[in-house]
Amino acid sequence: MKNKKITRKITQGMYVLTTQNGGCIVDAVSQISAGENPLVSVAVMKKNYTNELLHTNDKLALSIVGMNTNPDIIKTFGFNSMRDINKFEKVETNEVEGVPVILDSLGYMILEKVDMVENDTHTLFIGKLIEADVFKEEDAMSYGYYQEHKEELLKVTTEAGKTAWVCTICGYVYYGEELPGDFVCPICGVGKELFQKK
Ligand code: FE
Repeated sequence: MKNKKITRKITQGMYVLTTQNGGCIVDAVSQISAGENPLVSVAVMKKNYTNELLHTNDKLALSIVGMNTNPDIIKTFGFNSMRDINKFEKVETNEVEGVPVILDSLGYMILEKVDMVENDTHTLFIGKLIEADVFKEEDAMSYGYYQEHKEELLKVTTEAGKTAWVCTICGYVYYGEELPGDFVCPICGVGKELFQKK
Protein backbone atom coordinates (compact mmCIF):
# COMPACT_ATOMS: atom_id res chain seq x y z
CA MET A 1 0.00 0.00 0.00
CA LYS A 2 1.28 3.40 -0.89
CA ASN A 3 -0.12 6.24 1.21
CA LYS A 4 1.53 9.27 -0.36
CA LYS A 5 -0.10 11.54 2.21
CA ILE A 6 2.94 11.02 4.39
CA THR A 7 5.03 13.00 1.91
CA ARG A 8 3.09 16.09 3.00
CA LYS A 9 4.90 15.80 6.32
CA ILE A 10 8.21 16.50 4.61
CA THR A 11 9.17 20.00 5.74
CA GLN A 12 9.46 22.35 2.79
CA GLY A 13 9.64 26.11 2.44
CA MET A 14 8.47 28.91 0.21
CA TYR A 15 11.02 30.48 -2.10
CA VAL A 16 11.01 32.78 -5.09
CA LEU A 17 13.40 31.31 -7.62
CA THR A 18 14.65 33.91 -10.08
CA THR A 19 16.99 33.80 -13.01
CA GLN A 20 17.59 36.13 -15.91
CA ASN A 21 14.22 36.75 -17.62
CA GLY A 22 12.09 34.62 -15.33
CA GLY A 23 11.17 33.15 -12.01
CA CYS A 24 8.65 31.06 -10.12
CA ILE A 25 7.71 29.86 -6.63
CA VAL A 26 9.38 26.67 -5.43
CA ASP A 27 9.11 24.68 -2.22
CA ALA A 28 11.67 21.89 -2.52
CA VAL A 29 15.01 23.44 -1.62
CA SER A 30 17.74 21.63 0.32
CA GLN A 31 21.28 22.31 1.33
CA ILE A 32 23.10 19.13 0.34
CA SER A 33 26.71 19.85 1.29
CA ALA A 34 28.72 22.11 3.62
CA GLY A 35 31.88 24.17 3.31
CA GLU A 36 32.72 27.55 1.85
CA ASN A 37 30.45 27.07 -1.19
CA PRO A 38 27.80 24.58 -0.10
CA LEU A 39 25.66 22.85 -2.69
CA VAL A 40 21.94 23.57 -2.69
CA SER A 41 19.36 21.66 -4.72
CA VAL A 42 16.03 22.93 -5.99
CA ALA A 43 13.31 21.07 -7.88
CA VAL A 44 11.47 22.97 -10.62
CA MET A 45 8.38 21.77 -12.47
CA LYS A 46 9.10 20.93 -16.08
CA LYS A 47 6.07 22.77 -17.40
CA ASN A 48 7.35 26.05 -15.91
CA TYR A 49 8.96 28.50 -18.28
CA THR A 50 11.62 29.03 -15.58
CA ASN A 51 12.67 25.41 -16.00
CA GLU A 52 13.35 26.08 -19.68
CA LEU A 53 15.39 29.18 -18.80
CA LEU A 54 17.46 27.28 -16.24
CA HIS A 55 18.63 24.89 -18.92
CA THR A 56 20.52 27.78 -20.54
CA ASN A 57 21.13 30.25 -17.68
CA ASP A 58 23.95 29.29 -15.34
CA LYS A 59 22.89 31.33 -12.31
CA LEU A 60 19.77 31.48 -10.20
CA ALA A 61 18.68 33.15 -6.98
CA LEU A 62 16.49 31.82 -4.19
CA SER A 63 14.81 34.56 -2.15
CA ILE A 64 13.24 33.24 1.03
CA VAL A 65 9.58 34.09 1.65
CA GLY A 66 8.98 35.25 5.22
CA MET A 67 5.81 35.25 7.30
CA ASN A 68 5.46 39.00 6.61
CA THR A 69 6.39 38.96 2.94
CA ASN A 70 3.59 40.42 0.81
CA PRO A 71 1.60 37.39 -0.43
CA ASP A 72 1.04 39.16 -3.75
CA ILE A 73 4.60 38.12 -4.55
CA ILE A 74 3.45 34.50 -4.31
CA LYS A 75 0.58 35.28 -6.66
CA THR A 76 2.78 37.10 -9.15
CA PHE A 77 5.51 34.46 -9.28
CA GLY A 78 3.41 31.39 -8.57
CA PHE A 79 0.36 31.74 -10.77
CA ASN A 80 1.53 33.56 -13.87
CA SER A 81 4.02 32.89 -16.59
CA MET A 82 6.57 35.25 -18.05
CA ARG A 83 5.12 33.90 -21.30
CA ASP A 84 2.14 36.17 -20.45
CA ILE A 85 3.28 38.91 -18.04
CA ASN A 86 6.48 40.59 -16.89
CA LYS A 87 6.68 39.51 -13.24
CA PHE A 88 9.50 41.94 -12.54
CA GLU A 89 7.29 44.96 -13.26
CA LYS A 90 5.19 44.14 -10.20
CA VAL A 91 7.86 43.28 -7.66
CA GLU A 92 10.86 45.25 -6.38
CA THR A 93 14.18 43.57 -7.08
CA ASN A 94 17.90 44.20 -6.86
CA GLU A 95 20.42 42.72 -9.23
CA VAL A 96 23.10 40.51 -7.64
CA GLU A 97 25.57 38.61 -9.82
CA GLY A 98 23.34 39.44 -12.78
CA VAL A 99 20.28 37.82 -11.18
CA PRO A 100 17.29 39.71 -9.76
CA VAL A 101 16.63 39.05 -6.07
CA ILE A 102 13.38 39.90 -4.26
CA LEU A 103 13.72 42.80 -1.80
CA ASP A 104 10.60 41.90 0.19
CA SER A 105 12.07 38.62 1.43
CA LEU A 106 14.24 37.38 4.29
CA GLY A 107 17.31 37.31 2.09
CA TYR A 108 18.73 35.45 -0.87
CA MET A 109 21.20 32.85 -2.07
CA ILE A 110 22.84 33.03 -5.48
CA LEU A 111 23.62 29.64 -6.94
CA GLU A 112 25.82 28.73 -9.84
CA LYS A 113 24.46 25.66 -11.58
CA VAL A 114 26.69 22.60 -11.37
CA ASP A 115 24.33 19.73 -12.23
CA MET A 116 20.81 18.79 -13.32
CA VAL A 117 18.79 15.63 -12.78
CA GLU A 118 15.76 15.10 -15.02
CA ASN A 119 12.64 13.43 -13.61
CA ASP A 120 9.16 12.86 -15.05
CA THR A 121 7.66 16.03 -13.62
CA HIS A 122 10.56 18.10 -12.28
CA THR A 123 14.19 18.86 -12.96
CA LEU A 124 16.45 18.90 -9.92
CA PHE A 125 18.94 21.72 -10.30
CA ILE A 126 22.05 21.61 -8.12
CA GLY A 127 23.98 24.80 -7.57
CA LYS A 128 27.00 26.03 -5.69
CA LEU A 129 26.35 28.93 -3.32
CA ILE A 130 28.44 31.86 -4.54
CA GLU A 131 26.76 34.82 -2.83
CA ALA A 132 24.14 35.34 -0.13
CA ASP A 133 22.72 37.94 2.21
CA VAL A 134 20.20 38.29 5.03
CA PHE A 135 17.63 41.12 4.85
CA LYS A 136 15.50 40.34 7.89
CA GLU A 137 15.74 38.13 10.95
CA GLU A 138 12.18 36.84 10.81
CA ASP A 139 10.55 33.44 10.52
CA ALA A 140 10.42 31.85 7.11
CA MET A 141 7.08 30.68 5.74
CA SER A 142 6.85 26.91 5.51
CA TYR A 143 5.06 25.22 2.65
CA GLY A 144 2.78 23.59 5.21
CA TYR A 145 1.78 26.97 6.65
CA TYR A 146 1.13 28.28 3.15
CA GLN A 147 -1.10 25.30 2.33
CA GLU A 148 -3.07 25.78 5.58
CA HIS A 149 -3.53 29.54 5.17
CA LYS A 150 -3.59 29.88 1.40
CA GLU A 151 -7.14 31.19 1.19
CA GLU A 152 -6.57 34.11 3.55
CA LEU A 153 -3.10 34.80 2.19
CA LEU A 154 -4.33 34.95 -1.38
CA LYS A 155 -7.56 36.65 -0.28
CA VAL A 156 -9.85 34.24 -2.05
CA THR A 157 -13.41 35.56 -1.95
CA THR A 158 -16.48 34.15 -3.65
CA GLU A 159 -19.73 35.92 -4.50
CA ALA A 160 -22.62 35.09 -2.18
CA GLY A 161 -25.49 33.06 -3.58
CA LYS A 162 -23.47 31.47 -6.37
CA THR A 163 -21.98 28.00 -6.45
CA ALA A 164 -18.24 28.42 -6.70
CA TRP A 165 -15.41 25.97 -7.24
CA VAL A 166 -12.10 27.15 -5.78
CA CYS A 167 -8.76 25.80 -6.97
CA THR A 168 -7.04 24.49 -3.84
CA ILE A 169 -3.66 25.14 -5.40
CA CYS A 170 -3.91 28.73 -6.62
CA GLY A 171 -7.26 30.12 -5.48
CA TYR A 172 -8.81 30.54 -8.93
CA VAL A 173 -12.63 30.69 -8.69
CA TYR A 174 -14.99 29.05 -11.19
CA TYR A 175 -18.74 29.79 -10.96
CA GLY A 176 -21.18 27.09 -11.92
CA GLU A 177 -23.05 24.12 -10.47
CA GLU A 178 -20.59 21.60 -11.89
CA LEU A 179 -17.13 21.82 -13.37
CA PRO A 180 -16.97 20.78 -17.03
CA GLY A 181 -15.71 17.20 -17.57
CA ASP A 182 -12.23 17.94 -18.86
CA PHE A 183 -11.78 21.11 -16.77
CA VAL A 184 -8.27 22.24 -15.88
CA CYS A 185 -7.40 25.34 -13.88
CA PRO A 186 -6.61 28.14 -16.36
CA ILE A 187 -4.10 29.63 -13.92
CA CYS A 188 -2.11 26.73 -12.50
CA GLY A 189 -3.17 23.88 -14.76
CA VAL A 190 -4.36 21.32 -12.18
CA GLY A 191 -7.35 19.04 -12.81
CA LYS A 192 -10.82 19.37 -11.30
CA GLU A 193 -10.08 16.85 -8.52
CA LEU A 194 -8.16 19.67 -6.84
CA PHE A 195 -11.15 22.03 -6.83
CA GLN A 196 -13.33 22.49 -3.79
CA LYS A 197 -17.01 23.41 -3.87
CA LYS A 198 -18.05 26.54 -1.90
FE1 FE B 1 -5.23 26.74 -9.94
